[in-house]
Amino acid sequence: MNWKKAISRYLLIDLLKGLRVTFKQQAPGEIITEQYPKVRPPVGERFRGAPRLNIDPDTGESLCIACNLCAVACPENCIEVGWENREVTAGGRTGQKRKVLTTFLFDTSRCLFCNLCAEACPTYCLELTQDFELAAYTRKDFIWDREMLEHGREIRKYQR
Ligand code: SF4
Ligand code: SF4
Repeated sequence: MNWKKAISRYLLIDLLKGLRVTFKQQAPGEIITEQYPKVRPPVGERFRGAPRLNIDPDTGESLCIACNLCAVACPENCIEVGWENREVTAGGRTGQKRKVLTTFLFDTSRCLFCNLCAEACPTYCLELTQDFELAAYTRKDFIWDREMLEHGREIRKYQR
């Protein structure tokens, strides 16, 4: 061992060099670790996540016509559409009967996110959104009802 190496070892130069690299990478501007949930990561344009049943923004009524096509299209039988025939007034005429949506269940635990249900929907009211937070603690919480599908789940905002 020459005297240069001996001094370097004695003064722990290699250790200090390593620590310099480590601390340099910990500077706030250098952090590359995902800061989720404080910072939500961007998702792909074509990502398919949480389902949504859209409502008419003007009337607040569901755009779903309870045709059941989404449930029929689903290969996993995740969707259950409930309806009843109600008398409605349409075009000034009363006594007309129409299917009206009563319940809508969507089992997100079995869903493949294949989008076949949304593609089958004639009114485009069913969609898979870009929301990826679908975790739940119990099995029953994975089943979204109409209320949850129409208004979405509460997204908690974390501060940095
Ligand atoms: S995305 Fe696919 S698996 Fe999920 S509910 Fe729709 S059709 Fe069924
Ligand atoms: S296909 Fe669309 S309109 Fe028909 S029941 Fe499903 S969500 Fe409603």
